[in-house]
Amino acid sequence: MNRREEISTPRRTKEIIQKYGFSFKKSLGQNFLIDQNILGKIVGAADLDSSKGALEIGPGIGALTEKLADAASKVVAVEIDQRLLPILGEVLQPFSHVKVVHGDVLKLDLQQLFQEEFKEVSGVSVVANLPYYVTTPILMKLLEERLPLENIVVMIQKEVAERMAASPGGKDYGSLSIAVQYFSEPELVCVVPHTVFIPQPNVDSAVIRLKVRQERPVEVADEAFFFEVVQSSFAQRRKTIANNLKSRFFAKEDRTELERLLELAEIEPVRRAETLSIEEFASLSNVLYEAGVR
Ligand code: SAM
Repeated sequence: MNRREEISTPRRTKEIIQKYGFSFKKSLGQNFLIDQNILGKIVGAADLDSSKGALEIGPGIGALTEKLADAASKVVAVEIDQRLLPILGEVLQPFSHVKVVHGDVLKLDLQQLFQEEFKEVSGVSVVANLPYYVTTPILMKLLEERLPLENIVVMIQKEVAERMAASPGGKDYGSLSIAVQYFSEPELVCVVPHTVFIPQPNVDSAVIRLKVRQERPVEVADEAFFFEVVQSSFAQRRKTIANNLKSRFFAKEDRTELERLLELAEIEPVRRAETLSIEEFASLSNVLYEAGVR
């Protein structure tokens, strides 16, 4: 039975926008999805069922939210733009298991939100068409806070998705790839054309799934130091690993010490950061850390 018309058709979306006199704010990354097929793919990739919860960031006018409502037992949608609240109130009115929270996801206490809202579900995934201007801060907050998440399935800028999923050796591989892969296993779900949004964004988009790791892929002596070593190693991509590390951690006269430590970590000083695997970065940062380098 078709109990309601989906709101993500171009006609219905335009109707709602007109009815409420809504104007898109570019500064909030407002590009709304109007394609049933893509919405279905996003929800499908999250592996939800009637025992699971979903956290949506930026529901807009609720196109993805109503699909999540059909797929999960509880949905919480965090929206920053107050003007969207009456629209969401109307669109989501049939769903008593959907809660809209007004706020900036970057400022919310997500641990508390999880404790309060997802007590009765067997697992939670984040599913969202993210505002592109804050994609990386949002994803890093979700991952670094170690929320009890199963999957993060998000529409993001294609170029950012490729960097997150990149393997060593290519131009896309960098500190973002390592940060994301330390916390999750990324997989590109699909590339998405501009035409599925209103208004259409100026960049290409893609859906990525991050399967959140329950255990870290490598052992590091100190996490903050590990990420600092990674960042510093990529400071100037065309420089060798030895030169990048030297600029950040070693005085001029300490070149021999740096070479000794690189040898201990079994890394040739002439290599570039983009060729090092996450295991090699872990071993390098552990050797440096144990030698007292900071
Ligand atoms: N989910 C809707 C869809 O797919 O049609 C809208 C997606 S739109 C790309 C991004 C949404 O995120 C907008 O509704 C915007 O207002 C909201 N947003 C932007 N920054 C936010 C933030 N910091 N916290 C919560 N929501 C935010």
